[in-house]
Amino acid sequence: MSATRSRRGGPLVLENHRCQKCGGDEVEPYEEHGGHHLGCVQCGAVHDELLPIYRVKQLHTVVMILTNLVRSVHLKQQLSLIDPNPPLNFWRVIYGNLMDVSVLEWCKLFGSDHELNQPTHWKNVFLDHQDFRDGLFQHLQIDQEKWDAYWTRMKTYRDGQVAHYDFSAEKKIPYFPVLDLALESSYFYYGRVVSALQQFGIVEYPHDLRKSCEEFSVSVNEIGKKALAATAGMRAEG
Ligand SMILES: [Zn+2]
Repeated sequence: MSATRSRRGGPLVLENHRCQKCGGDEVEPYEEHGGHHLGCVQCGAVHDELLPIYRVKQLHTVVMILTNLVRSVHLKQQLSLIDPNPPLNFWRVIYGNLMDVSVLEWCKLFGSDHELNQPTHWKNVFLDHQDFRDGLFQHLQIDQEKWDAYWTRMKTYRDGQVAHYDFSAEKKIPYFPVLDLALESSYFYYGRVVSALQQFGIVEYPHDLRKSCEEFSVSVNEIGKKALAATAGMRAEG
């Protein structure tokens, strides 16, 4: 990617970029909606795409959130498999926080799509929404209605019990969200993000998140068994 100063000595103009609206070849960085987009010098149109350097940063950030999310889900699932109901508050707090962090992180990626607040939401990362949505639903083997129901459950739990507190949310969510679709949707999103990073020559992340999660799960199971066994029989603390 090369960049030069424009002829009039003013804004930075990126080469090899054309305006989507007028076809002109002078585009420059333009800040809008809190994002670093491209703007056309000739016609003034603001492009949907982020500047390449911010695009890469955005994609790296999504990978970090996804990684934290899937690890939290696997950790929660493995610990619950070993002991679904440990008496010690030490463990109960950890279990509860793992659930809350998983939902919070998922909502950064799939919850509200307002660009200012959620630059990592899939709709702000992949601008062809129909293509992403079709791929996601095919991957999950569900339709829009089922997705909407899951989305509402996660978002209501996040808004009513994790990020804020809403007494009426207790009635709306009588039980905790199930994290199966959160995990699967994360695998799908990750695949798209890693492919997008590859277009910038960035290949440092494992391509298959599901596979690396399986290895993480095995390790967590081993550690979790030892840790829960080590505290078994201890008296519940205050
Ligand atoms: Zn233009």
